[in-house]
Amino acid sequence: MTTNTLKHVAIVAAMHGDEVYGIELYNAILTKHPELADYISLIVGNERAYSERKRYIDTDMNRSFGLAKESHELQEIARLKTTLRTTKPDYILDIHTTRRDSGNFFISGELNASRIAICSLFNFDVCVMKDPVINTSFIGNNSKAISLEYSLKSIDASTTLNFIENTTKLITQAPLANANTNQTIYEVERLISPDEYSSYSPLVNYEIKNEGTALMVPKDESEMDAEYFGFWCKEAA
Ligand SMILES: [Zn+2]
Repeated sequence: MTTNTLKHVAIVAAMHGDEVYGIELYNAILTKHPELADYISLIVGNERAYSERKRYIDTDMNRSFGLAKESHELQEIARLKTTLRTTKPDYILDIHTTRRDSGNFFISGELNASRIAICSLFNFDVCVMKDPVINTSFIGNNSKAISLEYSLKSIDASTTLNFIENTTKLITQAPLANANTNQTIYEVERLISPDEYSSYSPLVNYEIKNEGTALMVPKDESEMDAEYFGFWCKEAA
């Protein structure tokens, strides 16, 4: 391979400090492909929350971009931005996990060439976030970034191998052909309200209601690892 065509991928892991799979993915890809070390960066999103294995210290970092209210997370955001300015990645994969049984999928801002290149490699559904919650999130403030939301119930050895294979293709730009016949692109119109969640109880992932297709829905209190009750999605036209 000619190195001058290689792209640089940044893996942002543990923006929620208790979501550590991104660190495992980074280690796995470097173990398999040490020759790509110069083209992959690991950036721990929330370093202190990660060291304490907590979701956050003061407030949810992924709801704090662009906010002025002083918090520990604002310092982490400043460090993340500085690191990205130095690293200058071509692509940014922001890795999250959930206890909810929602499969593995992307959460994206408006699709652009960089995000489409990433999505075309993975056979995962894509949720383009339209709810205002995106305005204070990482992907709402960095057009190269896309979030990958892995359900802890869906992760196994093949998930990690799949990530290694796809990220390697992203770096080497080896065939970016779209083979994803099963991929659906959704628009997330808004979050599911607490009232809707309780009135539909039980509401199941990928169930279709008048409001749309439900995704990221917690089964019960044990899966409430985020403050919201899921997304109402519609298939993109
Ligand atoms: Zn997360």
